This record gives sequence, structure tokens and C-alpha cells, in this order.
Amino acid sequence: MKLSSQVTNNENVYDYIFSGLGASNSLIILSLLEDNLLLNKKIAIIEPSLKTINDKTYCFWAYPEDPIVIKLRSIIRHEYKNITINGGAQQDISTQPYYLIRSIDLYSLVSKRLENAKIPIFNCFVNEIVSSEDYYTLKTSNGSFKTQHIFNSVISKHETSDIEEICLHQSFYGLRVKCNTAQFQESTFEMMNFNIDQNNYTQFLYTLPYSDKEALIELTRFGNEKVEIDYAKKLLLEQLNIKLGCYEILDEEIGCIPMTTYLHKPSVYKGVLNTGIHANLIKPSTGYGFKNMFLFAEMVKKEIMQNNVKNLNSISLTKKKRYRFYDTLLLIILLYWPKEGKKIFTKLFSSQHVNTIFSFLDEQTSIAQEINIFKSLPITPFLKSLVIYAQKKQLLRYIATSIVLFAYFVISQYNQTIASYYSYSAIILGMFWVGIPHGALDHLTFSYNKKSLSKFIIKYLATILMYYFIWQILPFLSLLVFIIYSSFHFGESELQEIEIKVTSYTTYIKALIVGASILLFIIFTHIQESIDIIANINGLEFIKLNEEIIVKYAVPASVLAFFYLLLIAVYTNKTSVYKLLILLIVGAFTNLLIAFSIYFICQHSLNAWSHLKHQLKVNSTRLYKKALPHTIGAFVILIVCILLNTHETNQINTLLPSFFIFLACISLPHFVFMHLFYNPK
Ligand SMILES: Cc1cc2nc3c(=O)[nH]c(=O)nc-3n(C[C@H](O)[C@H](O)[C@H](O)COP(=O)(O)OP(=O)(O)OC[C@H]3O[C@@H](n4cnc5c(N)ncnc54)[C@H](O)[C@@H]3O)c2cc1C
Repeated sequence: MKLSSQVTNNENVYDYIFSGLGASNSLIILSLLEDNLLLNKKIAIIEPSLKTINDKTYCFWAYPEDPIVIKLRSIIRHEYKNITINGGAQQDISTQPYYLIRSIDLYSLVSKRLENAKIPIFNCFVNEIVSSEDYYTLKTSNGSFKTQHIFNSVISKHETSDIEEICLHQSFYGLRVKCNTAQFQESTFEMMNFNIDQNNYTQFLYTLPYSDKEALIELTRFGNEKVEIDYAKKLLLEQLNIKLGCYEILDEEIGCIPMTTYLHKPSVYKGVLNTGIHANLIKPSTGYGFKNMFLFAEMVKKEIMQNNVKNLNSISLTKKKRYRFYDTLLLIILLYWPKEGKKIFTKLFSSQHVNTIFSFLDEQTSIAQEINIFKSLPITPFLKSLVIYAQKKQLLRYIATSIVLFAYFVISQYNQTIASYYSYSAIILGMFWVGIPHGALDHLTFSYNKKSLSKFIIKYLATILMYYFIWQILPFLSLLVFIIYSSFHFGESELQEIEIKVTSYTTYIKALIVGASILLFIIFTHIQESIDIIANINGLEFIKLNEEIIVKYAVPASVLAFFYLLLIAVYTNKTSVYKLLILLIVGAFTNLLIAFSIYFICQHSLNAWSHLKHQLKVNSTRLYKKALPHTIGAFVILIVCILLNTHETNQINTLLPSFFIFLACISLPHFVFMHLFYNPK
């Protein structure tokens, strides 16, 4: 590959810059050159590698009339019309053959076309992309390049995946061997042969014949650890010695493909299009991505033809969500029960026609076909995987809430008293499970030592005490203050859940309105009970006198609040807002205490718990340990609050106002610390 002279001018401005020249950018360039879309444009390609060796072998299945086959025909090295799996019988795939392209042939083709088009390749590393008023600047090991449009296949070192995401590797070690005698069938490849040591992973051999005497044979591992080269080499050589007898090693291929549920985010810069792995084009459960990259390249070409380059970062291949769900289930199995991989793949290939499997992996099957596929697979690992999936997606809380509520509705049909005791027990459990502990972690939201911790606790308790006294003197003002800060706190936590940081005036107002909508919806859908509780607080009895007027506004206010939240759900298209709406609706059919607890425990506290877990990078067990002393402290305050505020402690209508004041008092400092935690600056 020819390289241009070094960059001397820091002010170099280009129409398009391609950062990296691997599979994805090569396919995009070929596609754009094909329709002369790079003609009369100033282009720079930045790629550190000289691309003189064959570092990868790209394979894919396709119909002979598919554009990928037609357009890349000149570099397709092999076409397999038959397949074997797990040492089984040969199956005919001539309607949808398996094609092989050597990466070196792709690089040679693209570099020849670039040379013809007089487009230079700069042999340097991209270090970072910086945005300025007019241009993006690519800072490289060899100077800076400026442009308004970047095709970026280089993954930033700073990009970290979420700890909840599954990150496995498809790692492999392969040898290209030549035998003295015919050992292979040139048009038959073996996709997966699991008849080898599994070593507590999912491992198989993959055989791609180049002729009847020559083939690339790889040992592949799906697992959370990459296959060690020494181990792979030993195992592969053992197999080759058994299967082939006398052979010569021509070459080796080492590689690793990410198998992850992590989704790379589009670039924050409108003019920067992430490509390849970076554009989530690798299928998590298989590691295949070449065909997707070709489709993506065609899509990019279409957008550029229509001059849609202003929002380059928004170009993406649309994917059906259910396939992501299937991929995640399989990755969970491969992570937690790796031995099951062999059983699942063996069953899949023995029960389904290979063309159906290809369509399934291409995400082109119908739901009926998918049901048929899943029916044929071992059910237990998928059920276990489903539980972990529900846990990871935070669905367990909704399942648990549904079960608890269902039981409540059933019990209340027969006996109201038992139903009440049941609901109080569930609420107390929920409060001690996460409601109070999530607030008992405020000391973790800043760095502290023993001395500063004592100071913190004293200040924290003093604030609670002070607010408690204000409640006694100015209850109405305290109530208003409580509604305002708890609205903000609830709203901020909801916005955090949908990745909106509360840092500007508009987001402050948004947080306030979102939280107020939640709170007011709960209050207004239980207006009579709310008035009774508030009017039971000393000094707030007058609320009862205005009951008629307040009740008149209850329905329009709750409808308005609900529609505002619905608007947020539709506008952001975030499932967590829809889940919130469902919880609020369900709550409307229960009493006030249950409705508030459903929101407070199942949505607010659990969300905050997961925010703390992620941001502090601490697991739940450690969080519980850290929260324990403060949870006990909160419990003591609750008891004191009840004793101070109730005359007949066995009466629930006198307990509820105390509980209300308790929540208000302990949540005042909590709202401040959570805000500082969400916005550390
Ligand atoms: C060994 C192997 C075999 C595979 N086989 C198949 C297959 O058979 N079928 C299939 O569908 N998929 C396959 N894949 C998966 C996928 O198709 C490839 O990983 C594909 O190469 C990804 O394309 P990409 O453009 O994202 O990355 P790459 O092709 O890796 O391109 C990235 C380019 O960026 C360059 N680069 C890196 N750092 C910098 C920097 N700082 N500055 C500038 N340039 C930089 C690299 O040199 C490279 O040329 C395989 C992957 C591997 C690793």
C-alpha cells in the first residue's frame, strides 16, 4: 500500500476523513468510489498499518444475486456450497453459499482504487478528535487534519462499557496447513465441531478448505477469557495430527471478536460517523459483522447521494429489538453456564435446516420460525438466563411488585383487615430493603475520613432536627418546602435514569415539573386520603375546610400530570418512563400509602440504588453493609417521630402523619446530597 508524504501543514482541511482503513471504512470507500461520490473532493485516509499481510479472513453467507456477492466478486476467494456441522452429514447450501474473502485482498482492492482516484493514505495514528467552531480536528501522531465529516472506525480508549453489560470474547487461533494428500473437500466447510476439549468454555473447531490439500483450521472459544495461544496451539496440533497425519504449517491467524451486549453510542459530534465495530455492526452472539458492514456502507452511500451529511452521526442500521434479546439470552448462558454452549449449538444445528439458521442469524426470520427454533432448544438454560436477564434489565422489581400486588388484590376480596396487614408488612419490608438504605448511603456520595464523617453525621442530624422543629412551628410552609424539594428530587432521579443531567436552568425546571407531576398524580388520585392525612398534622387542620375546592381540581390535575409524563415517555422513547407510568396507574387503584410506596420503593429507591451502584462501582452487598448503621439510625428516628407525634399509636390515621413528617425530615439532607452526587461539579 503506497503512503503519501508526511503532513506538514497543520491547517490541512478535507471534505471527508476516514479514520482507520479496516473492513468497515474500506467497504464505505469502495461504495462511494463506485458512484463517483469522492470525485472532486479532498479526502484523507489515516491508517497506521501498511496492510501488507493477511490479518483476517472474512466469511459470510449470501444469495449469489445479493449485491455483496456481485460487488465483491473480484475478491471472493472461495465459495462453499456444502456445510458440515459437528462431524455430521454434509448439507447442501448452494442456494445460499458461504463466501470467503481474505482481508489482504480487500485492502489491496481499496488501495488500488484509492491510488487511481489519487486519494492519499497517511500512515499515522489518530489520537483524538476535537471539535471547534467550524471544523473537527483529528490530532494524529503526524500532525492535525481538519474536516467537517469523519468516518471513524477507531474505538476511543476512554470508552468504557457499563458493568451491567456482558462482555465476552470470541477468540481464536488458526493454522493454515497444507497436506501431502487430499484431506478436504474444496467446496465443503465445517462451521462448528464441538468434539474437542471444552475446558469449561464453549470451544469448537472451524475448518475452511482452500483446496483439497490446504485449509485454515481454527480453534475458537466463546468465553469471558481469551483462549491462551499455547493451549490453543497444543490442542489444535493434537487434532491436526489425529485428523491429517502429515502436513506443513503455512501460516497462523490469531484474532478476537467482541461478543457483547454493550452498545457503542453514536458520536456526540454531528459530523462524525462511527463505523464498523464502533457502529454496533457485529452480531453479539456470532461475531459476524462483515455483511452488516457492507449494508451499512450502502446506506452511507445513499445518505451522501441525498446530501444528508449534516447529521452524519445519526446514520445507523435499523435492528429488530427482539434479536438483541435473543443474543443477550445466549450471551448470559455462555457467561454463566459455558458448558451449555455445546449442547445448545449441537441441538440447534441438528434440529433446524441450515438455511433457517442462516436467516435467524441474519435476523430475517418470522416469529413463528423463532418459536420453532426455541422449542427445539434445551429449555432450562434459557429459563435460568431469563431470570438473570430480568435481573439485569431491572425487571425483577416489576415482576415482584406485580406478584405482591396481585396477592393484595386477591386477599382484599376476602378480608380487608388481613389485606391491610399484608400491605403494611410488604411496605415495611420494601422500606428496609431499599427505601431507607438508598438514603442511608449519603455519606458515600463524597470522600470522607473518620473526623469528617462524624461532622457530616452531626450536620445531617441537625438539619433533620431543625426541619422537624420548623414542621412544629410552620407546618404549612414546611409542607410546601417538602413538596418542592421532593418534586425536584424525584424528577432529578427520573431524568438521571433517562440520562439527562440536571445542570442547566431548563433541566432544573424540567426535573421540578417531572417530579411534581409524579407526586401530584399520586396525591390527586387519592385526594380524599391525602387531605385526611395532611389535615391530621397539627396546624394543617384548615386543609379540611377547603376540601371541596381541592377535590374539584383533583381530576384535571392528575390527568394533566399524567399526560405530561406520557409526553416525556413518547418524546424520549425510554422504557423506564413507560414503566413509571404503569406503576402510577396501578397505584391509582390502591390506597394512598400503597400507591406512594409502589413509586417510592419500586421506582425511585431502586433507580437511585442502581445509580449509586454504578457511579460508585460497588456491588449491592457492600452497599448494604455501608448503609446498615445509617439504616438503623433512620429506624430510631422513625420510632422517635411516631412517639412524639401520636397520641394513640395503635391508630393508623395518627401513624400516617408521623410517617409523613419522618419521610419529609430525613429526605431534606438526602435530596441535597443526591443532587451533589448526580452533579459532582
Ligand atoms: C481475525 C478476525 C476474523 C474475523 N472474521 C470475520 C468473518 O469471517 N466474518 C465476519 O462477518 N466478521 C468477521 N470478523 C469480525 C469483523 O468483521 C472484523 O472485526 C472487522 O474487521 C471489523 O471492522 P472494523 O472496520 O470495525 O475494524 P478493523 O477492520 O479492525 O479496522 C480498524 C482499522 O483502524 C486502524 N486503527 C487502529 N487504531 C488506529 C488509530 N489510533 N488511528 C488510525 N487508525 C487506527 C486499524 O489498523 C484498522 O485498520 C473477524 C474479526 C477478526 C478479528
